[in-house]
This record gives sequence, structure tokens and C-alpha cells, in this order.
Amino acid sequence: MPRDLTGHDALLREIFGFDTFRPGQGEIVEAVTAGQNVLAIMPTGGGKSLCYQLPALMRSGLTVVISPLIALMRDQVRALREAGVAAGALTSGNTDEENNAVWDQLHDGSLKLLYLAPERLASGGSQRMLAEAGVTLIAVDEAHCVSQWGHDFRPDYLRIGELRRALGVPLAAFTATADQETQAEIVERLFGGEQPQTFLRGFDRPNIHLAFQPKDGPRRQILDFAGARRGQSGIVYCGTRAKTETLSKALNDDGHTACFYHGGMEPTDRRRVEERFATEDGLVVVATVAFGMGVDKPDIRWVAHADLPKSIEAYYQEIGRAGRDGAPSETLTLYGPDDIRLRRAQIDEGLAPPERRAADHGRLNALLGLAEAISCRRVRLLRYFGEEAEPCGACDLCDTPPETFDGTEAVRKALSAALRTNESFGSGHLIDILTGNMTDKVKERGHDALPTFAVGKDLSRTQWQAVFRQMMGHDLMRPDAERHGALVMTDDALPLLRGETTITLRRDIIDRARNRRPAVK
Ligand code: ADP
Ligand code: ZN
Repeated sequence: MPRDLTGHDALLREIFGFDTFRPGQGEIVEAVTAGQNVLAIMPTGGGKSLCYQLPALMRSGLTVVISPLIALMRDQVRALREAGVAAGALTSGNTDEENNAVWDQLHDGSLKLLYLAPERLASGGSQRMLAEAGVTLIAVDEAHCVSQWGHDFRPDYLRIGELRRALGVPLAAFTATADQETQAEIVERLFGGEQPQTFLRGFDRPNIHLAFQPKDGPRRQILDFAGARRGQSGIVYCGTRAKTETLSKALNDDGHTACFYHGGMEPTDRRRVEERFATEDGLVVVATVAFGMGVDKPDIRWVAHADLPKSIEAYYQEIGRAGRDGAPSETLTLYGPDDIRLRRAQIDEGLAPPERRAADHGRLNALLGLAEAISCRRVRLLRYFGEEAEPCGACDLCDTPPETFDGTEAVRKALSAALRTNESFGSGHLIDILTGNMTDKVKERGHDALPTFAVGKDLSRTQWQAVFRQMMGHDLMRPDAERHGALVMTDDALPLLRGETTITLRRDIIDRARNRRPAVK
């Protein structure tokens, strides 16, 4: 394809059959075509492949595409060939005939795109072949596979940086993983630490309504939410396998058509649920995170979290299964102190190295911050992914701005109660102390003699629970997994304690707690 005869737009139409670029695609295509080093972060389904395929056709010479997903490579090669593009793949699944065809095109210089599995980079032969083949661009799909701490780590991805240096050509890396730490690793390992031009686009899903609620009779909350959306396809994510089964039963008892799904089920049973979900209207699937990878039903109208997800990335991915068709869709995420404790413990008890654990706590904190936000959730969510936005009008906080109050004094009282008891107790006992509740435990330990005893009588027990939950949400205190969830102050609490900063808490949570109906368990 001689590049001076066809511009982006003509190629977009003729080869790919699209009328316009998706948000972000145009500028990425331009930068890659211009031969700049590029890191592009786009959500799954955002249209990443076009961002290297189109530049490959605009540029002279050969573009090498490295991807870990063989089936996907074969798909893309087939589609490109059908559109008349000289593309080929060298993967372990190739027949000799396929290999020979690719080699021929490589030798006569007609190949435009060569897809390569990362394992291929391990052989000296491939490196030599690439050096001789006139490569002018390297594109790396799923670039987060270079991150050693991610769950998709591919050791062979570490060779890509070396290849880039050896060939001395620009590199364009693509991923859907947006966290800072992974980005830094990609820059370090793929670009040798030299900052590429970075694009972060298209994370907003404006048709998805966002809402969070503190747990307050969680089963009733889920049944209410699902009940208002009867007959629509939805997913309820749960933290445990057992809960998917009990909640699915509760939904069926409530007149829904629901089934459960988790990793402990037989593969055939799981497949049956997947198939039903894809074909039936209005089915509710109650699932663990195991339900997701293969789900691409376009008209999922709602997603609920019966338990808090493990990170802001997980949250985004899970709610993102709703409304792929662009029509309005709703989400609700429940969270409570038990979730926070469980997620912290999972991180602390995991096998990850300390710096990784700190990052995981950070990702959980980001989600808790979103849960306890006091203004537009979407602004906060998108800012986490690096995008700026205006208040959205499609989240619970835009719908009903929460009342807030200066929580500094309440928080300082709570911190003081924890410090004066050597950070050895959970919120229950601390609230007993704050509200002056003379329990046996208080008496036994002599905690009624503390200066903090009964200083918090102005708030009820449930209001204090809300304060403690918000404190955990702001990461001022953490439950210590090794000491039965005893609350320990974090360094973030120090400025508050010293009177250097103040904190704003949400009033509505506390008011709701005050007016709350008896919890249905
Ligand atoms: P990703 O790799 O980012 O997950 P893909 O590159 O597979 O996404 O693209 C996702 C879908 O979007 C594909 O079906 C693709 O054909 C479609 N698509 C990509 N770019 C455009 C565009 N500019 N206009 C319309 N559809 C597009
Ligand atoms: Zn909003």
C-alpha cells in the first residue's frame, strides 16, 4: 500500500470498514505512524489493534506485533488477509505450509505485519531473522505482561526491550491496565526507562450509572436493587462461593430467574450457565469473579456487588460488563467493615513481596476512597485512570449530593481511644469505650478509667460504626490481620491527630444509620 496515495481516513474505510476513529484512536495512530515511541492505555474493547495495524500500513517496511494470545493473532491475521493486507503469524500452532508462506513473504519484503508469540524471541534465529527482515516498527499488545507482579507475567516479554535496542526502531505498547505501577514497569522494561508518548483514553462509560451503599441489611439491599430491575439481565458479584448459592436462592425465592456460578463448579455446569446467560433474556447470574472473562453479552442492564471488589481496577472491570450496547445500565456496590477487613487480610496473607502488598493496599484504598467519596464518583474514578472529567450527572452522588460535616473531632476521639488501648482492639470495643458502655470487657480492663471513656456520647453506636468505616475507607486505621483485626493507626492519621489537617465525613451515611430499619440478615 503506497503511503502517499492513501491517508488514514481512506485506509480506515477501505481496509477496516470504519467511518470514524473511536475516541483516542486518531491521535495514537498519528503518533505511531510518525515513528514515536508510544504507550497507549485503552480499555478492553476500545479498539487497540487498529492503532498499530493502520500505522503498519501507512509506514514503509515491516511491523512486528508481539502478542501472547495465539487465537487472537490468528483471527487478526485472517481478517487482515481478507482485507488484502500482507499479514502473517509465526506461532507454535502453525503448519509448515503456513510457516513457509510467511518466510517467503519475509524474504521478498512484501510482508507488512508479522505477528509473533513472545516465546519466539527466545531463539537466536528469530532475532537474526527480524534484524534482516527490515523491521521498522515493533508493536506490543497486552504490554502489562512485562510486569512481574501482575498475574499475566510472561518472562519472554522481558526480551522485547532487548529486541528494540537491537533493531533500533520505535516501539508502540498497548495495554488495558492503567495503574501507575504497571505503567512505570512497562516504561522501564520496554522503553529502557525513556518516557514514551503516553495516551490514556476512553475509560469513561457514560451510560453506566454508578452507586455505592454501605451494607445495611445487604441481602435486602440486593433484593431491592434487583427487584427494581425485574426481567433485565444482571450479574451479582459475591466475595465467596457459598454466598453465590444462597443469594441465588434468595433471588429465585423472590421471583427472579437466577443461577449461581463459581470456580468450584464442574466446567460443564459453568458452560451451561454461560450459555443460558448469553441466550436467555432476564437471567440473573450470581457469581464470583470467576464469571467474567468469557462474558461479552452486550445487553447486561445491571451489575451489583454484594461484597466490595478487591481493587478499583477490579471494580471498573466488573461494572464494565454492563451496557456494552451503550444503553443506560445501572450498578450498585455494597461495602462494609467486614469487606475491608477481609480484603486487607487477603493482601497481607498473600505471597506477594512487601512492595507489591503496599501497592495492593493502595489499589484497595483507591476503591474505598471511591466508596466514601463526597462528590461525583465518575470524576474520581476517571481521575484514578488519569482522565479528567466534569461531574457526570449519572452517579448517586450527582443525583443526591451528600451532606457532609467536619468529622475531625469524632475521628480524633476514635484515634485516641485506639491509642490509649495500645491499638489492641476492634471497633466494637472502641465504640463501647467512646459511648461509655460499661461491658464486662471494659470493666475487666479498667477502660472506664480512660480519659476517652464516654467522650463520644453525642453519637450513637451505629453512627460511630459509620465513622469507623469511613476512617478505614480513608485508610486512617487498618485492621491488623495477625491480631484478630485490632485497629491500628496508619501514618495518614498523624496529621489529623496533631491538628494539622481536618477531615470531612459524609453525613447521610450517619443519618441513614440513625434512621435505619432493623437489619434483615
Ligand atoms: P481491544 O484490542 O482494544 O480490546 P479491538 O482492537 O479488538 O479492541 O477492537 C474492539 C472492537 O471494536 C472490534 O470489534 C473492532 O472491530 C471495533 N472497532 C475498533 N475500532 C473501531 C472504529 N474506529 N469504529 C468502529 N469499530 C471499531
Ligand atoms: Zn457523577
